Amino acid sequence: MTTTTRTATCTIEGCTRPVDARGWCKSHYGGWRRHGDPLAVEVGKPAPIGDLVENVEFLLSVREHPENIARRQGYTMAALARRLARHGRADLSAHFDRDRSETRRAR
Ligand SMILES: [Zn+2]
Repeated sequence: MTTTTRTATCTIEGCTRPVDARGWCKSHYGGWRRHGDPLAVEVGKPAPIGDLVENVEFLLSVREHPENIARRQGYTMAALARRLARHGRADLSAHFDRDRSETRRAR
């Protein structure tokens, strides 16, 4: 194993994570890959699940489009569906489960 101690950090201002690709860390690179914008994802501090559920419940109640909701929370539809389902909120998760093209999850 070669140990290259090159501490290149993410080029996004304020981000101190190591570079993964394209000058961005894993999170920012992931944001760029998923959304076409490295800043589309909130890095470092995913919202506590309680806040997330509250936000999602509220936004659904005001008939915000699920796609927008997921985006605003920094998730893809599939990722948000998964996170909600994992926390026993299959009822909420169902709203985001329409897009099965990205990650097919057969039980
Ligand atoms: Zn970064």
